[in-house]
Amino acid sequence: MSEFIPLYNEDDVRFELLFPEELCCNCGKRGMLRVIEQDTRFTRFYGSVGSELILLFYLPFCETCAETATRRPKTFFHRTLQTLLVFAMTATTFLGIGVVWDVRQLVENVMWVSLGITFVLMGRFIISQRPRGNQSSYFQPVRIAFARNDRIGGKVSELKLKITNDAYRNRFCELNRAAIKDGALEVT
Ligand SMILES: [Zn+2]
Repeated sequence: MSEFIPLYNEDDVRFELLFPEELCCNCGKRGMLRVIEQDTRFTRFYGSVGSELILLFYLPFCETCAETATRRPKTFFHRTLQTLLVFAMTATTFLGIGVVWDVRQLVENVMWVSLGITFVLMGRFIISQRPRGNQSSYFQPVRIAFARNDRIGGKVSELKLKITNDAYRNRFCELNRAAIKDGALEVT
């Protein structure tokens, strides 16, 4: 059932990436697993232009971890944007309240009040995204940390994966020893 992801080294030698199927890729549980197509993305920036690579990984998930297959990890950029949005909305709301109800103190201190509330809200939000039980991540447990696909035909010639579950990562490294030894594949 595993889909092979072709990877080519600089001499055009092709490697078939193999994903272990006997344990959940997020919590490591064995049994009662189902293979889910995980839409895994990596964005490279050339100056201000971004190019997105999408690889479909067919990964085994247990029932509890199945929902993590669709949760793309949040980047620093995402988090900054979220924080700015929460701050802007809080500040606008409190400024509005302060002006309408004529609460001078609120208008004067709107920056500090909004900063405090943003801090609490973002803290609670981030805490709610912690992994549950034996899960290694709240987000997709297999990620692309780096990929090079600028060769003819868009071939992936260098791939660096981040695998959050230790047992799954070890098993994956065993299965893909040849590509790792060659240097075309790196796993962290
Ligand atoms: Zn699991």
